[in-house]
Amino acid sequence: MFTAEHAIRRYRETRRKITPQRIAVFRALEGNTSHPSAEDLFESVARSVPGISRATVYNTLETLRELGEVREYHFQADFRQFDPNTAPHHHCLCTDCGRVHDVHGGDFGTVRLPAGRLPFRADSFSVTFYGHCDRCGGAKSSRRGRVAAHSHSSHM
Ligand SMILES: [Zn+2]
Ligand SMILES: [Zn+2]
Repeated sequence: MFTAEHAIRRYRETRRKITPQRIAVFRALEGNTSHPSAEDLFESVARSVPGISRATVYNTLETLRELGEVREYHFQADFRQFDPNTAPHHHCLCTDCGRVHDVHGGDFGTVRLPAGRLPFRADSFSVTFYGHCDRCGGAKSSRRGRVAAHSHSSHM
């Protein structure tokens, strides 16, 4: 689980400088299940740390990603979203409002690459269900979600 303390420790281990601004970014990610974009995170941090620069937030996210402490997802084209939950899990994306929900559990036992046919070795996979959340009428709608699988290289 991502915690600010853990991120601070990783920064120390890799001889990176710890500043109050960076700690504010760590805190904003703690327990954050909204899969924010860098801009979302900047806006929420800027409310508590006026004057923090966009570059600080963006660079901190980039460093955390390099360190494997947050995961980057591309649920939508040309749009990066970050998840401090790096444990294997799946997602539901509402194609109306863009909200992303974590999916834990479920049966994904049959998701496999065709054996030996790709010049590729998958270390992990993540399934994204595309559909409509309850707020956008998902429960009332009879439309079925589209399923797409994304593979991610792990940082092992
Ligand atoms: Zn929605
Ligand atoms: Zn997630």
